[in-house]
Amino acid sequence: MSRVAHPAGPRHADVLPADYPPVPPEDLNALHPAIWPRGAHRSGGALTLGGIDVRDLAAEFGTPAMIMDEADVRSRAREYVDAFGEDGQVYYASKAFCSRAVLRWVAEEGLGVDVCTGGELAVALSAGIDPSLITLHGNNKLAAELEQAVAARVGHIVVDSFEEIARLGYHAEAAGTRPRVLVRVTTGVEAHTHEFMATAHDDQKFGFSLASGAADEAVRRVLGLPQLEFAGLHSHIGSQIFDTGGFEVAAHRVLELAARIHAEHGVHVAELDLGGGFGIAYVPDDDAPEIKTLASGLRSIVASQCLAFGIPQPRLTIEPGRGIVGPSTVTLYEVGTIKDVDGIRTYVSVDGGMSDNVRTALYDASYTCVLASRASSAPPMLTRVVGRHCESGDIVVRHCYLPSDLGPGDLLAVAATGAYCRSLASNYNHLPRPGVVAVRDGAAREIVRRETLDDLLRLDVG
Ligand SMILES: *Cc1c(COP(=O)(O)O)cnc(C)c1O
Repeated sequence: MSRVAHPAGPRHADVLPADYPPVPPEDLNALHPAIWPRGAHRSGGALTLGGIDVRDLAAEFGTPAMIMDEADVRSRAREYVDAFGEDGQVYYASKAFCSRAVLRWVAEEGLGVDVCTGGELAVALSAGIDPSLITLHGNNKLAAELEQAVAARVGHIVVDSFEEIARLGYHAEAAGTRPRVLVRVTTGVEAHTHEFMATAHDDQKFGFSLASGAADEAVRRVLGLPQLEFAGLHSHIGSQIFDTGGFEVAAHRVLELAARIHAEHGVHVAELDLGGGFGIAYVPDDDAPEIKTLASGLRSIVASQCLAFGIPQPRLTIEPGRGIVGPSTVTLYEVGTIKDVDGIRTYVSVDGGMSDNVRTALYDASYTCVLASRASSAPPMLTRVVGRHCESGDIVVRHCYLPSDLGPGDLLAVAATGAYCRSLASNYNHLPRPGVVAVRDGAAREIVRRETLDDLLRLDVG
């Protein structure tokens, strides 16, 4: 069995070639409710987000622009808290999209915040997030970051290497605090969408391997340092996961370790963090499960395995990123050129591309897009929506049916761009990165300002 699943999931490993186009949708104007933000609808033909016509948003904020529906983010955050919150804790993985406004929204809905660098930690602290609800991750935290986290008295630090356990002990002693530590365990489970691989060894940079005994040793070392409080175990198995199979195997392996810790050290593992990775729908074929279904699945897996191992049940923590912000956001682009290539396909070029959404180029990710500035009853044409970068891999949407009367100046909207798009954005070809505009109840405000050429030139001090 291959160890490495296709990062974009099994849809791409099927018998159909990756390039095989989907069938055209019945109605090109329809907005699939699982894919578009909860408040999205068409009004007078044009797409409306948070009660605002996208033509007005484009006129005020320019394109490309990332339009984030605040109510959508808050409603998903609440769903996670309702599903897991009673005897557990939900942390928002801020790497999906890290801005002060969003961190405040999710904190108001009862979530903690995961950070994995000093930069993300600085955003969380400056947003006023309660430090006790911040978890610091990272496989190579800098000394300054450990120091910063210890000084801020963040709630949890997830240790990832033997060097770090020793360093953290040093910084804790120097600061006179006793940080709560989770040991990140590599279970040999790797999950994407419906597939997971469970292997004996695990060839990756994160965590302490269970199979080699490193995880047992890491717990021993944390317990041996009086400066550190051993809080529990952490496992993150992948991303864009649609079912609980991989979590079940991972939880089994981690709880087996918890049972050994209990037997060997008489220590109860108080917290079990099963990480993030809950999948969302990008295209109509993606059947992402409801959060409460996933949550009850995970909770019963943990309960039954603790019973089987004869250990007390730890508090369950999860860390969704994509699942909180992914579906909330739509990227608006303006169409520039339309090129029919020898009857093979039609290339629609927009005013952004891999600098604002690199996931298609990086992971062969699938997206959905619609004509947003008007409705159309023209017949469908199969297009490839591309950006304006000097790369032929600069693809935004690989296959998209758009109305054949599409023209320059029309606005396109690409759905589900809230996670890992702005946060992975670059200035390739010296394109300023787009702003992020929050919409709610008919009001819009920029929460991340659009970059300008002056911003870029200011960095060029040569
Ligand atoms: C990336 C990551 C997450 C969030 O993953 P999503 O797929 O966005 O839910 C959570 N925990 C850890 C440790 C991560 O690395």
